[in-house]
Amino acid sequence: MDALDYFCTLYQKRTGIQCTRMDWAHLIPVTEKMSVLFGADRALRQLHQHVSCSEHKTAFRLDDVARCVVDILSRQEECVHPSLDRQGRYDGHQSGLVALGLGHEPIVDQLMQRCAEVLGHPWNPLSAFDGVKAIIGLSHDVDRVDGFSYLPMRYGYWLGRAGLSLFGGQWSAARRWYGRYCSWRSYSDDPLFAFDRWMALESEYDVRSTFFFMSLKRGLSIEGRRYTVTDPRIKRVVRQLVDNGWEVGLHAGRHNAQSLAWLKDQKRRLEDVAGVAMDGCRQHWLNIRLPESWELYHQAGFKYSSNMGWTPELQGFRAGTALPYPVPGFSGLYEIPFQMMDRMVIQDPGHHVALFDTFLKQIKAIHGCLVLDFHQEYFDPIESPGVGDVYRTILQRIRSDTEIIALPLGAFIADF
Ligand SMILES: [Zn+2]
Repeated sequence: MDALDYFCTLYQKRTGIQCTRMDWAHLIPVTEKMSVLFGADRALRQLHQHVSCSEHKTAFRLDDVARCVVDILSRQEECVHPSLDRQGRYDGHQSGLVALGLGHEPIVDQLMQRCAEVLGHPWNPLSAFDGVKAIIGLSHDVDRVDGFSYLPMRYGYWLGRAGLSLFGGQWSAARRWYGRYCSWRSYSDDPLFAFDRWMALESEYDVRSTFFFMSLKRGLSIEGRRYTVTDPRIKRVVRQLVDNGWEVGLHAGRHNAQSLAWLKDQKRRLEDVAGVAMDGCRQHWLNIRLPESWELYHQAGFKYSSNMGWTPELQGFRAGTALPYPVPGFSGLYEIPFQMMDRMVIQDPGHHVALFDTFLKQIKAIHGCLVLDFHQEYFDPIESPGVGDVYRTILQRIRSDTEIIALPLGAFIADF
């Protein structure tokens, strides 16, 4: 399928109306913010035909808009000569969208909505969800579950660091290391095994989420100090989640991430434990390479990838969209972008909630999905201050707003 055919199919999903090649000559007046996108794309700069317009600075032909949309959704900047960070991932700081100041805008959705306005078509990507203006997709990566393993060694390390800090006259550091030792001495339950607490909190607000589990053969491996999927505690909790309406997906390891055999192996192991098919996958550390990772997910039989987001220092709209979309070129595979991730410590919960509110406002305007990623192991208020408070505040927002609903990711993919 070429770019323009892909755009037509997507446009029809968002509007219910078929646009045809007859429409390509339509001029779409765009805002100044949107016009920056075209200026940034060298190929489009050569192609596009722009005219002055009294209301807006610029207008572009619909086929140029369509090519621009498809370029962004297929992440051309990541596929062709990507700038990589030290971990070998695409470096978000080098992204054109971020550099243009569009990293916090669902700019692709805004652009398509503008096309619908100009062509006189309705814009309703959430038509399957009666009266809903936005869906909140809740998800959790399960990186660690075992705070009590190797604890005597870690006690030794923390006390050693406290001693060294004391020796160096660094009182606050010494207090911090010693405080860590004391708080871990006081735990009777493992603070990193917080599934029961997440389930209780989400049940209190009558919502469900997706938990992405790693699926490793050994708890201690090149991936670090993780867990095995056959650990009896993991087996119990995976079944409990599945039996009670939560979704389980694969959190594929960050090493050996380009091996199809290894990906299939992880998927099968987790499916054996869960007793259900794994539809979704998110890579640990978001260690994807495009388009190769999409190709692997497609071949391994996943229905969706949820990797299209940035780490917490950037946050926002990696593919310019807050709507799940079929991955161009990989029939049957969807990408569900996410916009916000937690941190181990949220120093300023007010700032995090304000960002949620800002994103929600933008996403309601384009009728999209705001997808969140909160780590399972960041629930304890001593280990991860601020995280639980932010999550609870978000759940309160969801309960009090009749225009939004919250769902696990796999629950809404079929409607896009
Ligand atoms: Zn992870």
